[in-house]
Amino acid sequence: MNQMATEASCIFCKIIKNEIPSFKLIETETVYSFLDIQPTTTGHLLVVPKYHGAKLHNIPDAYLKDILPVTKKLARTLGLDVDSPQGDGYNVLQNNGRIAHQEVDHVHFHLIPKCDSVTGLGVGWPAKQAEMKDLAALHEELVRKLDDK
Ligand code: 5GP
Ligand code: ZN
Repeated sequence: MNQMATEASCIFCKIIKNEIPSFKLIETETVYSFLDIQPTTTGHLLVVPKYHGAKLHNIPDAYLKDILPVTKKLARTLGLDVDSPQGDGYNVLQNNGRIAHQEVDHVHFHLIPKCDSVTGLGVGWPAKQAEMKDLAALHEELVRKLDDK
C-alpha cells in the first residue's frame, strides 16, 4: 500500500499496517480482512480495501477488485455456502455516512452470518409500490447522467 493510500489517524489503516492488532483472515495486495471486534453474531467479519477512503465512491476500482472474491471465500470458510434458500444465510453490508450507520470512516464490507432471527443483521425495509411513470422518469434521468460519471 503506498503512502498516499493511508490516513495516520484511521483505525483500519493502523490495523492494515499492523500498528494495532487484529484477528486477520485473508490478506491480498489490495484487501485486508479480519474479525469484527463487536460482532452481531459469531463470525461477523470485515473486508477492507488497503486504500483509505471514507465512502465507496472514494475508492479506486483497483482496490475493489478483490473485495467480493475474498468475501465469497470467507463465506465458504464460515460454512455459509448453503445451496438452498433455507438454512443458514449471510448478509454483506457496506455503510456510507452516519445516517447510513457508518461509524468508521474507512470503507469496509461486513460479512454477517444470518443463522437465526435474532442475531446478525436486522433490516428495516420501508418498501412501497412505485408508480410506473415515476420509475420511467427516474430511469430516463439516470441513463442520461450515466455518461457523465
Ligand atoms: P460501521 O458501523 O462503520 O459500518 O461498522 C464499523 C465496524 O467496525 C463495527 O462493526 C465495529 O465493531 C468494528 N470496529 C470498530 N473498531 C474496530 C477495531 O478496532 N477492531 C475491529 N476488529 N473492529 C472494529
Ligand atoms: Zn483508513
